[in-house]
Amino acid sequence: MQPIPYGRQSITQEDVNAVVEVLKSDFLTQGPVIGKFEAAIAQKSQAKYAVAVSNATAALHIACLSLGLQPGEIVWTSPISFVASANCALYCGAEVDFVDIDPVSYNISVSNLKKKLESARLSNKLPRIVIPVHLAGTSCDMKAISDLSREYGFKIIEDASHAIGGQYLENPIGSCKYSDITVFSFHPVKIITTGEGGMALTNDAELFQRMVRLRSHGITREPAEMSEPPRGDWFYEQQQLGFNYRLTDIQAALGLSQLSRLDAFLKRRHEIRNLYETMLSGLDLQLPTFDANSYSALHLYIIRLRTKNPETDRDRVFKYLRSQGILVNLHYIPIYHQPYYRQFGYNHEDFPESERYYQDAMSIPIFPLLGDDQVAQVCEKIKIALARV
Ligand SMILES: *Cc1c(COP(=O)(O)O)cnc(C)c1O
Repeated sequence: MQPIPYGRQSITQEDVNAVVEVLKSDFLTQGPVIGKFEAAIAQKSQAKYAVAVSNATAALHIACLSLGLQPGEIVWTSPISFVASANCALYCGAEVDFVDIDPVSYNISVSNLKKKLESARLSNKLPRIVIPVHLAGTSCDMKAISDLSREYGFKIIEDASHAIGGQYLENPIGSCKYSDITVFSFHPVKIITTGEGGMALTNDAELFQRMVRLRSHGITREPAEMSEPPRGDWFYEQQQLGFNYRLTDIQAALGLSQLSRLDAFLKRRHEIRNLYETMLSGLDLQLPTFDANSYSALHLYIIRLRTKNPETDRDRVFKYLRSQGILVNLHYIPIYHQPYYRQFGYNHEDFPESERYYQDAMSIPIFPLLGDDQVAQVCEKIKIALARV
């Protein structure tokens, strides 16, 4: 049996053709396809503006900078996320703190957020930015978080790296209805891919302009934005310290081609979810729950062990499944566990739900090309693994 990864990309001949066409054209980077890709993603997400960048980590970085994040200010995010959700704050010299997760959705817990905000107000340590992460592609409770942002005066960046194509309260994730900026990732394991790539969306023209400038060295070529009249067509101004975070036209062509299959990708992911729900019911597992308010992009299918000793059983089940070619994974190690983050002195006991999650969670395979027969194989192996513990 071929090993089954937890996720993988799907590339068609059309994708290949789209990339080859750009390779034969005049522009390899920042040509016409970037604009088309941005417009298509903005339209699909119902956001006004989109900025394509080299990856989602870069998108998070320029999102923080465009919101004016300063050294010494504070950013809060979920500890159960990829390190990039927190690193973006450190790039800006800001501090990071975490809000414990909800035991059902595994997203940032709104009640914990509220409690932490109340005490942060008393100690004068309120966050400047909160970065909710839509874990596995299921939206956080954005309406509640947005209400809190007005009360406590913080900005919101949605880390929707897992969530393109998903919905929340009738709106596509990415619409920024309840946030300042939303970020997507196009890494190959994510929902659609450009190889490496990311996008930042916003409805705010000023934030958009700032992110466009930060993406390309802080340089503008727009006469209207310049400090003096341009001296010729060759004129440009560097107005701040920016980066080279550009996506290429080659990548954008792949992304645009992939985007045409986004709905089909999610449909297949939900079919797989339905198979798992049927075949894994009645076992000592907590399966993901989905509420009627949202449509998950189902980037991950996370199961949690509900056996007698989940802490030891999870590692045994994990090991067994890997030995059988089922390449389960763990998303994620709480960020405050990372050696680099230890210097900041987080107390693990402040995050009991994240600690529990870290003990008993596991991501099992889900991706569009996963066949029904493979889903059945995965379930069979999980049953055997659970019977052995
Ligand atoms: C993948 C991921 C990122 C980073 O995305 P890149 O495009 O690889 O930079 C950030 N946040 C989360 C939650 C992710 O899963």
